[in-house]
Amino acid sequence: MSKAISQVPFAQNETVKSYEPGSDEVKNLISTYRKMWKEKTEIPMIIGGKEIKTETKIQLTSPHDHHHDFGFYYQGDMSHVDMAIEAALAAKNKWNALAWEQRASIFLKAADLLAGPYRDVINAATMIGQSKNVHQAEIDSACEFIDFLRYNVEFMTELYAEQPVSDPGIWNRVEYRPLEGFCFAVTPFNFTAISGNLPTSMALMGNVVVWKPSDKQIYAAKVTMDVLKEAGLPDGVINMIFTDGKETAERVLAHPDFAGLHFTGSTKVFQGMWKMIGDNIHNYKSYPRIVGETGGKDFVMVHHSANIEAVATALVRGAFEYQGQKCSAASRAYIPKSIWNQVKDVMASQIKTIKIGSPEDPSNYVNAVIDKNSFEKCKAYIDRAEASNDANVIIGGKYEDKKGWFVYPTVIETINPYYESMVEEIFGPILTVFVYEDENWENTLKLVDTSTPYSLTGSIFAQDRYAIDEAYKALENAAGNFYINDKPTGAVVGQQPFGGSRASGTNDKAGSKMNLMRWVSARSIKETFVPAKDYKYPYLG
Ligand code: NAD
Repeated sequence: MSKAISQVPFAQNETVKSYEPGSDEVKNLISTYRKMWKEKTEIPMIIGGKEIKTETKIQLTSPHDHHHDFGFYYQGDMSHVDMAIEAALAAKNKWNALAWEQRASIFLKAADLLAGPYRDVINAATMIGQSKNVHQAEIDSACEFIDFLRYNVEFMTELYAEQPVSDPGIWNRVEYRPLEGFCFAVTPFNFTAISGNLPTSMALMGNVVVWKPSDKQIYAAKVTMDVLKEAGLPDGVINMIFTDGKETAERVLAHPDFAGLHFTGSTKVFQGMWKMIGDNIHNYKSYPRIVGETGGKDFVMVHHSANIEAVATALVRGAFEYQGQKCSAASRAYIPKSIWNQVKDVMASQIKTIKIGSPEDPSNYVNAVIDKNSFEKCKAYIDRAEASNDANVIIGGKYEDKKGWFVYPTVIETINPYYESMVEEIFGPILTVFVYEDENWENTLKLVDTSTPYSLTGSIFAQDRYAIDEAYKALENAAGNFYINDKPTGAVVGQQPFGGSRASGTNDKAGSKMNLMRWVSARSIKETFVPAKDYKYPYLG
């Protein structure tokens, strides 16, 4: 057991590499990408530390070249779900008994492995499997993931240090126990960092985990497991399975030892899982923790005092980076009539210079959307806008799927603030703009607040401080991450804890102490040094 009150290394954000043209950084990353592109990788599930292979091999293809396969993974069934639960429960006691410093060490080591020898590998896997360009891969799979690991260790120690006061003669303590049973992590395709954070944050707090990554993110998920193994994570603490989402949820959520769900993905899927948990509530040994970060319809609200170039740039970056496939992507903008033409011109001139294609060419700012479904969904929104009386496609509107799932940055202008692409999450590079009369500023703030069920991220652009203050108050509950004169994407761990409420999630703020709180169950301990020896209190005389 620990014989010191250890201090963990001071967490700092990993510096984002710039990958300038011709630099060694970019040459090394692209050469790793090319090497991995040619390899045919074979990805087994990892259960109880063992590689599990099945008869069912599923080909892995890249979004920007769907004829190219870079290997396959082994698909599991419900027997593998059971196996993963058993392996987790078998690992539980030993993992629970391990001193926190030992746990911390594993995840700090994982962070250093990602920052060093695995950086190019996890970035390249994310570029190939999820079609992220060099910069998007770097800020996600390297830096944000590393930040999650390092900051969570620091937040864990802050949490452990939160202790009650003690009256004379007694000593009060609070111990932060892992949850009884096993935890379930279900992760989305769009962020390697989130995919890594969901299972590791629970494991860091002493829990054992069954992890089901998205089948569109399996390549980088494999690298995550390789890193954790090399960092010394004991077998069975995190078990990675490739199984059908719905069936797996039904199986896992019916288990009496299910103790917590850490989910990131779409709103509908999360609501379905919550319902399953409700239906099973009488089966569980304890009330499970439910954390879900879900969909968004993130806004940019512009005041007529705003800086034109800043608004246009925030819209271009916020809406089109990673093809608009960030939960935080700007997807609806409200722009006053007096400045709309200028904003539109600057946006159009910026978008004209955007290159689209494979991440292998780092000068491509936009790459492919994740799969055929996403491509078809974007295409349908664009086609309907072209045909609508309420909307016009004013920039972009092109798409092509011969080689990869490419959708060009598209701006739709609508006269209807409730037009479908103003209120529904599309998850593609499509921005819809509603132009309002300048004098309708207040009513437009109400529209921003009430026209969608979501509340994830949002920005306000203004130079006028009274306008900023008004928006700040009127939109208090419209976004869990609120930006002033900045794009609504790009939250940094340790700086802007991330998460939304309403239909966007339980707002348990990934990358913060608030999140870690959900994966522990506190025990209060009171010790009396000299116990009373007579029942009579003084008032009894
Ligand atoms: P998704 O909901 O399709 O899938 C997420 C995970 O759930 C995957 O592992 C998937 O296999 C699994 N799944 C799918 N159907 C299931 C079912 N019926 N029951 C149980 N599990 C099931 O989401 P996605 O397409 O991978 O990711 C995009 C979505 O995630 C968007 O809605 C986006 O806004 C959201 N997202 C939110 C945040 C956030 O922090 N709020 C972050 C990233 C992504």
